[in-house]
Amino acid sequence: MACGAVCIEATRRLGIPAGVGRDLLSAWWLPVALLLPPLYALLMPIPLQALLQFRVLRTLVHRRVLVASALGIAGACASVVFHLVVKDPLDAAPGWVVDVYPGVPAAVGCAALFTVVNTVLVAVAAHAANPESRWRDVLWTRESLLLDVVDLCVGILVAITSSLTLGLLLLALPPVMLLQRSLMHQQLQAAARTDAKTGLLNAAAWQREAATELARALRTHDPLAVLLIDIDHFKRVNDTHGHLIGDEVLVGVANTLDHQLRDYDLVGRFGGEEFVALLPGTDTVEACRVAERLRGRVRRLAVPTEDGTVVVTVSIGVSLYRTHGEDLIELMAAADLALYRAKASGRDRVCLPALEGPKAPGK
Ligand code: GH3
Ligand code: MG
Ligand code: MG
Repeated sequence: MACGAVCIEATRRLGIPAGVGRDLLSAWWLPVALLLPPLYALLMPIPLQALLQFRVLRTLVHRRVLVASALGIAGACASVVFHLVVKDPLDAAPGWVVDVYPGVPAAVGCAALFTVVNTVLVAVAAHAANPESRWRDVLWTRESLLLDVVDLCVGILVAITSSLTLGLLLLALPPVMLLQRSLMHQQLQAAARTDAKTGLLNAAAWQREAATELARALRTHDPLAVLLIDIDHFKRVNDTHGHLIGDEVLVGVANTLDHQLRDYDLVGRFGGEEFVALLPGTDTVEACRVAERLRGRVRRLAVPTEDGTVVVTVSIGVSLYRTHGEDLIELMAAADLALYRAKASGRDRVCLPALEGPKAPGK
């Protein structure tokens, strides 16, 4: 508990912005789950989550309660199973460590059980809060899986070390703190790429990554399309329902765009209620088809409010690499012109720049 508290205090000094949620505290939950009776694993998350809430980052209380409950239940499950295999692990040390079998494999299995139960509980809650989210995203991404494995290994090593002599915890503390620090650094870098409200790329990151894609298209002679997507009459949504509902609409539209496009398409929030997407390997016909699909999907999005639901439409300007521009600035200018045409001809439609004539809505 003290080691966990030290790690939490150390992250406090680094300053964690909202959205940077991953920590290495499992290094301290796991030894408790493995070595002490299950009740400790059940209760330990409460003081540490309270410390996180009051000292590091105040977040929604129900979210903290949920995280603490998931950790507690997962820890207690792992603890019960481990204690069935290794009786009184603290008294049994160093036997269960030195003889290795079955103690260490059981520790690995229980650590995995801890991770699985914790992840599934949090994912079920996240999916219930946002039924639109994909299970794949709320369960495991490749990055989070890697972190889980690191968490698990560190946790088991700390459990083994501290079951030999509690004083050895002092040796484990600095490397765990250093790992935590580098993890934070990595997450801060990722956070600097994304728009906090929608989770899409922010304008600067989109431009950087779009330039790389453009250089690739130049090399490979593949087609490439840019879509500029603007919500119609968004100001009215804010004026009628307030900024909070406005924000929910923004997040809904962002999620729809993100889910509808391929993993290697670049989707960003360009500012306000304007989004931008770069579609590698996409020609004019395909780009217009995708844009029409996006337009249709956004129309179907219904954001609940106190008095009914809000429905919004989008206008989309499409521009094609080589046809409408040779670099990002020209492509963006062409997409902007196309968007202007879409707005001027009645909104809720997809347009190309004048060069190829407008595309009729819904056709
Ligand atoms: P048009 O169909 O011509 O695009 O009209 P519009 O009302 O969508 O466009 P306008 O540019 O007049 O208004 C955009 C509005 O978007 C104004 C601004 O208050 C709102 N907005 C910008 N960023 C945010 C945000 O992060 N949250 C919310 N709720 N509103 C935002
Ligand atoms: Mg707008
Ligand atoms: Mg706008």
